[in-house]
Amino acid sequence: MSAGNERSGPEPTAVLEAVDISKHFRVRAGRFRRGTVHAAENISLALRPGTVTAVVGESGSGKSTLTRMLARTHKLTSGRLYFKGEEIDPRAAATKDYRSAVQLVLQDPFASLNPAHTVRYILSRPLQIHHKAGDDLQESVLGLLRRVALEPAEQFIDKYPHELSGGQRQRVSIARALAVEPEVLIADEPVSMLDVSIRLGVLNLLADLRDRDQLAIVYVTHDIASARYLADTIMVMYAGKVVEVGPADLIANAPQHPYTKLLLSAAPDPETATKTWLGDSGAPPSLVSPPSGCRFHPRCPFAMAVCSQQAPPSFDVAADHHVACWLHSPEQVEAQSGALG
Ligand code: SF4
Repeated sequence: MSAGNERSGPEPTAVLEAVDISKHFRVRAGRFRRGTVHAAENISLALRPGTVTAVVGESGSGKSTLTRMLARTHKLTSGRLYFKGEEIDPRAAATKDYRSAVQLVLQDPFASLNPAHTVRYILSRPLQIHHKAGDDLQESVLGLLRRVALEPAEQFIDKYPHELSGGQRQRVSIARALAVEPEVLIADEPVSMLDVSIRLGVLNLLADLRDRDQLAIVYVTHDIASARYLADTIMVMYAGKVVEVGPADLIANAPQHPYTKLLLSAAPDPETATKTWLGDSGAPPSLVSPPSGCRFHPRCPFAMAVCSQQAPPSFDVAADHHVACWLHSPEQVEAQSGALG
């Protein structure tokens, strides 16, 4: 089962494109020392209308830092961002137009909705502030509720967040993001706090918004099974770096990076309650002093001498499928085919 896109024909132009973006944070690393957290390093991606890009990784992989850079709540340490082909000045604050066009939906819908306000108020505010309400504010709010399948909308409009289920609250969060007519929706772990039984409904809503409204969606998750279900492209991150990126079906059916294989081997079916468990395979490293070379080498069963000495570049393994792993260097591929032949 999949909610993936059936698109054919040429790819549309990217709404938002990141080229080699990085984010480092200065932190205190001891009593007298300061250190640098290498939270996200040299990430490139292009978000196109009508597509879902899943960013997958464990805690500390840098995926949330990436979303904040894309939403421009974190300034870039380096790299470039392009919005509709125009380069953005990295020193300037995000404009109101940018903040409308690129909307962030957070993990915890209860924390992100003010419990003192009704759904009517929560959805009216962005409509009014951004002048999107038209002539009839109530009808605009009801329309938003219908777009996120909270129906009959009249029964939800005057409820408070505590009167809604987790899934309904997350739908209100998504409706609030839609109020300003975004072109990019960044959903940061939008189903991780929801019961398994209602996760699929929210994933299907995101698929609808992609297909019907042609939104470019970034779906951030630690759960590669749900990424496989929803996404067109999957980007796997480990310790602040992209280790594999490609079409979702290729990543799901023919993963090439040892870390992607580990994630998939531990992934539950999205419709079951089984939890992902990666604890037996070690933990992600500190980002203040990440391992030399390939950051995955302390956990990797295939690590070679070069792996701890040099960070692997990204190698092409198929059309649009790239892997940062020395196993895919031309020399290794040749050596392996020689050994087989
Ligand atoms: Fe493993 Fe080396 Fe590949 Fe890193 S580069 S994933 S350590 S084989």
